[in-house]
Amino acid sequence: MPDGRLYVLIRGIDMAYDARVLLGLFHDRDKIIVMDEDSVSSFDAGSMLITLERKDLGGGFSAEAAFYDAINGPDDLSAVLDGCRKPDLQATMKISWEEMERPGGRLLRNGKIICGTVLYRVLQRAFQKDLPYGSLTGVRPVKLAAICLEDGMDEEQTVELLREVTGISREKAQLLFEVACQERSYMDGDASAVNLYIGIPFCASRCLYCSFTSYPIDRLAYLVEPYLDALDKEMAFGARWIRENHLKINSLYIGGGTPTALPEKDFARLLSMVQDYFGQAREFTVEAGRPDTINMEKLRIIKDSGATRISINPQSMNDETLRLIGRNHTPEDITEKFHIAREMGFDNINMDIIAGLPGEDLDMFRQTLNRIEELRPDSLTVHTMAIKRASRLHQTVDEYASAPDEVVDQMIEEARQSARRMGMKPYYLYRQKNMLANLENTGYAVPGKGCRYNVETMVERQSILAFGAGAITKIVIPSENRIERTDNVKEVAQYIERIEEMIMRKKKLFAETVC
Ligand code: SF4
Repeated sequence: MPDGRLYVLIRGIDMAYDARVLLGLFHDRDKIIVMDEDSVSSFDAGSMLITLERKDLGGGFSAEAAFYDAINGPDDLSAVLDGCRKPDLQATMKISWEEMERPGGRLLRNGKIICGTVLYRVLQRAFQKDLPYGSLTGVRPVKLAAICLEDGMDEEQTVELLREVTGISREKAQLLFEVACQERSYMDGDASAVNLYIGIPFCASRCLYCSFTSYPIDRLAYLVEPYLDALDKEMAFGARWIRENHLKINSLYIGGGTPTALPEKDFARLLSMVQDYFGQAREFTVEAGRPDTINMEKLRIIKDSGATRISINPQSMNDETLRLIGRNHTPEDITEKFHIAREMGFDNINMDIIAGLPGEDLDMFRQTLNRIEELRPDSLTVHTMAIKRASRLHQTVDEYASAPDEVVDQMIEEARQSARRMGMKPYYLYRQKNMLANLENTGYAVPGKGCRYNVETMVERQSILAFGAGAITKIVIPSENRIERTDNVKEVAQYIERIEEMIMRKKKLFAETVC
């Protein structure tokens, strides 16, 4: 595999960031130098070079990537720039205006997609490595399949086009198509309806891989009440705005953190506030993620509040893994709390699991799948382990054994089979940075039991109003194909102290974006 510095010269298109992300999946990020023509003089002799160029042609445009395995001195470099030196590897695509007008042509119009693909084609050969998603590095790859579907393309046409313009594998292209079909059944279609998120940034303990805004509640118990006071003010403002603008609430999601980590009295207050302000939501999910935070009283409070969906998240059904990742519960706690919730009448329960947890092999993951199949939840979200910068794991990753890419790939495949055995279909999918094996997170559900909120966050057709520390509000402006956002501060004490400022931020955003 090539080593050493890799210079990349991009011409005719502004995609330094996108190129860097893709290049980082093949080569050490610290050895990648993206240049423009003005910085070419600082080139180190002996390095690899990739040139990437988009050119306008008479009837369309072209994208070309070329790989040179060693550039030896200024003359060599000049020969490349003058087009006199033949590349070691090359990939070219030409797209005509006519092709762009055909079904799916919106993908071809996107110069970044086409340039990304020729870049992927040379990297694939230079580094002898295939990526399951080809050149796709974005968070929402399903959007591409959804465009094909909107244009009336069938599965085979979509799969072929995606493979051609992104280099994605057949299996992943089929998965994107299936998700694009399924997500339609959860989309509301009313562009003026809103979705709500309420963040409770407290947890029983901090998981090894956690990068969310989440604080161990035993250390910050004194902040719970003031936090709910601040949240009350922010939600009161949001509810007034929704009322004044006659907006429908499509979905409501209370997440975090773990909302059920709150003491019963505070948890009851939270759900009573939510019910008062937003009781008319069509779908209402409460994240009861950690079984060690759930008891019958809290489940009763959830039930009485009108919640339609809860999530009880094992992540793993292996005792030693749960201990290793810092969750204070056992697999038996999960089973027990699940049965209690069922007996109390919860008929839409989601479970989250993670493939590739530290120390887990394929047999351990299978054990998790088997035990979940015995429980038969209504939906299952299968995450691929991602090592995020803000997590404890990022600092200590060398201390843990993690499964090789091909094993994680197999885990994801077995999870898919397991979900199918439970009668579930994939209905939402997203990707993150630094995921093992460069895979995906997929939500599966029994038909009709998926989460509308999750789908709306992926398709970005409706606004999301978010409340609480670290919450991000996004206002969708369909007529301009634009999304504007405002973030709340992440730190709990800051959120409490600066609540009026958070409300003002929302007020300003609403005034600027909604007539
Ligand atoms: S339960 Fe979720 S939010 Fe809480 S610490 Fe674990 S990963 Fe983070």
